[in-house]
Amino acid sequence: MITSRKVKSIVEEITPEAQNIRRHLHKYPELSDLEEETASYIEAKLRMIGLDSLETNVGGHGIIGTIKGTRSENFRRLAIRADIDALPIQETCDLPYKSIHTGVMHACGHDGHTSVLLGTAAALAKLRAEFSGEVRLLFQPAEETVGGAVRMCAGGAMEGVDAVVALHGWPGMAPGRIGVRSGAMMASSDTFDIIIKGAGCHAAMPHKGIDPIVVGSMIVQALQNISSRECSPTDSVVVSVTCFNAGTAYNIIPGSAELKGTVRCLTAENRKDLPIKIERIATGICEAMRAELVFKYHLGIGMTINDQGTTDLVRVVGAEYLGAENVIELDEPSMGAEDFAAYMEYAPGTMFRLGVGVNTTNLHTPAYNFGDEAVAPGIEMFAGIALKFLNEGPE
Ligand SMILES: [Zn+2]
Ligand SMILES: [Zn+2]
Repeated sequence: MITSRKVKSIVEEITPEAQNIRRHLHKYPELSDLEEETASYIEAKLRMIGLDSLETNVGGHGIIGTIKGTRSENFRRLAIRADIDALPIQETCDLPYKSIHTGVMHACGHDGHTSVLLGTAAALAKLRAEFSGEVRLLFQPAEETVGGAVRMCAGGAMEGVDAVVALHGWPGMAPGRIGVRSGAMMASSDTFDIIIKGAGCHAAMPHKGIDPIVVGSMIVQALQNISSRECSPTDSVVVSVTCFNAGTAYNIIPGSAELKGTVRCLTAENRKDLPIKIERIATGICEAMRAELVFKYHLGIGMTINDQGTTDLVRVVGAEYLGAENVIELDEPSMGAEDFAAYMEYAPGTMFRLGVGVNTTNLHTPAYNFGDEAVAPGIEMFAGIALKFLNEGPE
């Protein structure tokens, strides 16, 4: 069995190149579903490494690569996912590799995720004799707009996969540390539209119309009762109205108002019940106030629920490669969402956090930088997880 020391020395050799790759990706970021150059760059790097198979244009600009081990004990397949897209934000940092694309930057650190997975590919290609089964590398487009993961799955990304893992660079955590959690990790994210049709009139004669702004305000208020009075106090539920559009002038009561909002939760039961509760409240208020309701609910992305066995494996690998003191147990899930959840509908898996720096600014902000220091620990983790999973399986 290969030692972690040997793997670490291979990772050390590869790291400078992986760091350069990250800087290149950082300099040339591309928005969701426009990752054409990014995909060609990844493809070129993978061809240089030499994979057992390579598929491009999966679900858009996605890439699926395969590395087969040459041992033949038992065949299992592990998928590892990295997202490749950037965000519509103007970078403010003065890095030598600052984004040259105006208004676009890697503010979520997907440059880091991609370079870590490319580094992992390079490491595992050198370690073929050390594992059986295969590693499937998933380079996913359009994570930020949510949709890339589902399309990758439709393109066969998860066919025959026994487990799937991913990481997300995490500000506020030192490089060389990881954050793990079994069970609920990230929330589901669904959206709704509420259109209130009232009757417009002169603002000085409100009794001649039906004021959709007043009705809308009641709905906004009432929806807040869902998490506080209709869900268990121990459940995490967010129902937020995030847009309220109505009216054009000081002296006109408009004919309609439009609300938009987001719904987040951590259990399948809440996810099923929440649209029913929201519609019931909106319908009841509209009826009482003589307004008409148009209600639309859009299922977005499901919860990211980390599998116990796969997460335990990440804990063991983390302790082995980074030290037990650097494996941080996360005490709460995030109410943010990740389209990584889509892969977990096909196989158990886990997503963990990778420290990128204690003083790093937050994700999705104009000064965010994944940085160079997290690259090697990321590769060590992915390579270590692959070797352990394929040779031993989950603990
Ligand atoms: Zn993001
Ligand atoms: Zn992200």
